[in-house]
Amino acid sequence: MNCPECGAADNLCQARFDELMALEFSDPAYFGTVHNLTVATFMLQHSSKLTREGWLYERELLREFLVENKSPEFIRRQNKDLVDSGKRKFKITSKDGKPVINKTTWTKTILDVRAENAEVYCEDIKAWAKSALEEAEEINES
Ligand SMILES: [Zn+2]
Repeated sequence: MNCPECGAADNLCQARFDELMALEFSDPAYFGTVHNLTVATFMLQHSSKLTREGWLYERELLREFLVENKSPEFIRRQNKDLVDSGKRKFKITSKDGKPVINKTTWTKTILDVRAENAEVYCEDIKAWAKSALEEAEEINES
């Protein structure tokens, strides 16, 4: 069965995500400048892990990285209060398992990311993130 959220064949997306997280945390060249993109894009394509506000927040984060070219450090500083769950006014993650968007196919999924070397890896993460953001921006917020 394909993933009901991102459409990845045989539901392989979660295993691939776990594998790539392990790779990023074990090799700084893979973690690089893309770690935030890997996480935010995966979340964006799996909205059942998020509240509606959380999904919009991840999408905004991706837009800031990709369109406004803000650095991960800048965004971390800017969002410090927001991300600090004590101060945040909304929940980001959800455990009810219900998707908050009804999109089930995406042009690129995490399975399109190659990991032969760090250079190819970072390029593919960016291409996947850009493609996902473009499609997510077409989704009506209300
Ligand atoms: Zn998936």
